[in-house]
Amino acid sequence: MPRARTHDAITLALAPPTFLLTQALTGSRDLAWLVTLAMLFSGFLFNPDLDIRSKPYARWGPFRFLWWPYQVLVRHRSQLSHGLLLGTFIRTVYLLIILALLGAVGILLWHALQEQSGSESARQALALLKRWLLSVERRYWLALFFGLWWGSAAHTFADWLGSLWTQTKRLL
Ligand SMILES: [Zn+2]
Repeated sequence: MPRARTHDAITLALAPPTFLLTQALTGSRDLAWLVTLAMLFSGFLFNPDLDIRSKPYARWGPFRFLWWPYQVLVRHRSQLSHGLLLGTFIRTVYLLIILALLGAVGILLWHALQEQSGSESARQALALLKRWLLSVERRYWLALFFGLWWGSAAHTFADWLGSLWTQTKRLL
């Protein structure tokens, strides 16, 4: 299995072709940036190795705790983290659930501290967030998810090649 440094190098090397190819295919610089940044985020911080105490995990710094339940629930290198489509999908859903839970806790605390006026402003903030999320065009969501998928898929491909290489070396 390739080391974290190899995965990082692959992620970096893929960034320029990802940008150029996306721009060529979509004709949009915005989409190219979005795909490339999402891919870099996925490769460095959101990759399948979050299922163990790894370099991407360490990069979350004080927010590492967000991944503790994930590491308990997902076995290292299982399909749930390293699966080509399933891995990114599950991590995305997981992170959204965790962030929603934290948001809910934050609102409850806000409530407790501010009483009546606080609940009103929390509701307004939520309505604003919802309106903003709904106003984002679908192609931006697709580009975002594609970038996240691509960054993690490159990791899984590299793991496969690494295993294949180890097996071949053993046979030789
Ligand atoms: Zn891995």
